[in-house]
Amino acid sequence: MTDDMQLLIDLHLPNDRQGPGSDAATQLALKLSGVQADPGLKIADIGCGTGAAAFCLARHLGASVTAVDFLPEFLAELNRRAQGLGLADRVQTLEASMEDLPFDDASLDVIWSEGAIYNMGFENGLTAWRRFLKPGGVLAVSELTWLTDRRPEPLTRHWDAAYPEVATAGRKIRQIETAGYEPVGYFPLGTDCWMENYYLPLKRSFPAFLDRHGHSEQAKAIVDAEQAEIALYETYSDYVSYGFYVARRLPD
Ligand code: SAM
Repeated sequence: MTDDMQLLIDLHLPNDRQGPGSDAATQLALKLSGVQADPGLKIADIGCGTGAAAFCLARHLGASVTAVDFLPEFLAELNRRAQGLGLADRVQTLEASMEDLPFDDASLDVIWSEGAIYNMGFENGLTAWRRFLKPGGVLAVSELTWLTDRRPEPLTRHWDAAYPEVATAGRKIRQIETAGYEPVGYFPLGTDCWMENYYLPLKRSFPAFLDRHGHSEQAKAIVDAEQAEIALYETYSDYVSYGFYVARRLPD
């Protein structure tokens, strides 16, 4: 693992979320999905980080959640938090790559993934994960999305280079259909999901992070990159967000 990766883990580990989101958004997506609480549900949260969505799902569905991430540091922290929340018996961790998931075909009722599918690409993830869902099973993912068809040029240039799959919800929903799902709901995350729940806690953790790493040039570069991303979001939040997409697997 690179030093930068180790530093990024150390920066993000103390926070509740490693990306934009909220319990309210998770619950809204759950409502759109129509999934009812049932202790027998088989649920996976892919790219779970330290577990914000997995905890919310376990609570609201009264079911066990398999929380999957490829970083053991996040999974260890998730287990520690689950103990504190009294959810240790309902959230199991699984260290695995989202590109090589060890689930049986048609074994899951719900695949959840907040701010993580981009790591293997949206269309790739939709296609690769479909087989793990039972027919009629629910896929709920949040993904970087243009809110408008026309946007300021610097914003488009930045994200087209950083994540070429960024697109409007219309395009993403078409991709969901093409991949063999029935779209059942969409909404964009509000600014609270980005600022109050993600960027502001991250900002507050910069001083302790820099202290832990002796204000090294590498640590400072990571903080600078995060600050630049925050500034970009603050300037252009009318044009870009994460979209939450909820869909059902169609039969073959
Ligand atoms: N879902 C969490 C949340 O919303 O707070 C975390 C989102 S974070 C932006 C993306 C997560 O995906 C990280 O926890 C990261 O470790 C995980 N991840 C990245 N690439 C992965 C891969 N190939 N397989 C499994 N997890 C991966």
